[in-house]
Amino acid sequence: MPERDCIFCRIVANEIPSYEVYSDPNVKAFLDINPIAEGHVIVVPKEHFQGVSDADPESFLNVMDAARRISLAMVKSSFAEGTNIFIANGSVADQTVFHLHVHVLPRRNGDDINWNQWWQSKVKHVSEGVMSQIRQTLVEIEGENL
Ligand code: AMP
Ligand code: ZN
Repeated sequence: MPERDCIFCRIVANEIPSYEVYSDPNVKAFLDINPIAEGHVIVVPKEHFQGVSDADPESFLNVMDAARRISLAMVKSSFAEGTNIFIANGSVADQTVFHLHVHVLPRRNGDDINWNQWWQSKVKHVSEGVMSQIRQTLVEIEGENL
């Protein structure tokens, strides 16, 4: 069911204009209105899900596969040299639009994204003991029926 107050549902329903770059029965993709690189694309399921947590596996895979194809098209056509593909999941992860979406960010040599620089500045030291505990915790969680 489309959500009346959801901006991406309204884009899917063509109630709000967008620069559509891809559409199929399940998925739509359009240019991000505040791009951090030229050709920054947002890929959404046509059905409303808040995020990763409430999407069914098939809908999630449909969106990811569209992101894969858009990314491939960008690189094959030399529109970009590579891409970053990412999802903000939950407000703590800086999700701001609560309709599941994948960012496809075109990357070009010498662009100003500086992902590695930012990443390196965040790297933490975690002891071997804590790494083992975390691994055990995650294995147990994944064993639950998700
Ligand atoms: P986030 O929820 O942080 O993953 O990001 C939401 C993204 O949606 C931001 O990059 C916004 O610029 C983008 N956005 C918000 N409204 C629109 C819109 N009307 N058309 C296209 N992109 C949008
Ligand atoms: Zn929605």
